[in-house]
Amino acid sequence: MRCLFCKKDSSSTKSVEHIIPESLGNKTLILPLGYVCDKCNNYFAREVEKPFLERLDMQLLRFQEAVPNKKNRIPIIQGLFNGEYPVKMQRDIVNGEIINGVQIPEALFKRIANNEFENMTITMPAFIDDTIIKSSRVVSRFLAKIALESLAMRLESIENSLDEIIDDKQFDPIRDHARLGTIKDWSCSIRRIYNIERQWKDVVGGVSQMIHESDFLLTNYDEASAVACNEVQSEMYFVIALWGMEFAINMGGPYIEGYEKWLKEHGNVSPLHYGKNKDFISKQ
Ligand SMILES: [Zn+2]
Repeated sequence: MRCLFCKKDSSSTKSVEHIIPESLGNKTLILPLGYVCDKCNNYFAREVEKPFLERLDMQLLRFQEAVPNKKNRIPIIQGLFNGEYPVKMQRDIVNGEIINGVQIPEALFKRIANNEFENMTITMPAFIDDTIIKSSRVVSRFLAKIALESLAMRLESIENSLDEIIDDKQFDPIRDHARLGTIKDWSCSIRRIYNIERQWKDVVGGVSQMIHESDFLLTNYDEASAVACNEVQSEMYFVIALWGMEFAINMGGPYIEGYEKWLKEHGNVSPLHYGKNKDFISKQ
C-alpha cells in the first residue's frame, strides 16, 4: 500500500487520518488505515491543519459553536473587561454541558473585590455570518488536503482506485500544494451560503444543524467547442461547506474562474444544493 500524498510505502501506518480535523466537529470521516502515511499525517496536522485552526476567525467560530478538539478543549478567546482590561473567555464541556467561565488576572480581581468599578462589562469579538475568510495559502493547502482525501474516500469501493489517484499526474499539482506548499497562490472560492445556526430538515423529518457537507462538481463549460475538437473540457472542483461557509477548490490547477462561471450560469446556487443534491435536504 502507498500513501496518497508522498506515494511511499505506507503499510506500517499506525494512525488514522481524519479528512476534516476533529477540531472542526468531524468524528466520522476517517480514511482507511494506510491511505495517508504517519509522516504525512503528522506533517498535515502540524503544518496544514494547525495554521488553519489557529486563525482568529476559526478560533472564534469554534468558541461560539463550542467545538472541542480531540483533547476536549475549546479555544480560549480574549475578551475585555470594561473595554480596556484583557480577560480570558473560557468554555468547557463537562458531561455534555457547556460551562462558561472568565479568567481574570489577579491584580484586576483585587480591584473588582475592592469595589473599584461601578459598572462591569465584558465584551469579546464574535464570529458573525458576515465574517468571510479570504483565500490564502493556509486556506488553499487545507482545502487541497481535504479535497484529495475526499476523492480517495469517494472512490474507495472501486478496485485500484487509490493507485489510480496516486499515479494520475493531473493530481500532482494539488497533491504537492497540500504536501509541500508548491504553487503559492491557489485561488479558491469562499462565500456564505447559509447562516451558521440555520436549522435543516433532513429526509427522515428530523431537524439539525449542518456542520459540514461536501461534493465534487464536474464542469463542462465549453461544450460546443469541445464537441468541435472532439474532446470534452471538464474541470473537477471540490466544494465543501463548514457551518454554511462554502469553499471551492479546483482539483486540476490554481484557477477558480471556471467555478465562478458555473455559479453565474446556475443562479449562484451551491453545487451542494443543486441537481442531484437538490432533494437531499429541504430548506426549513
Ligand atoms: Zn506520505
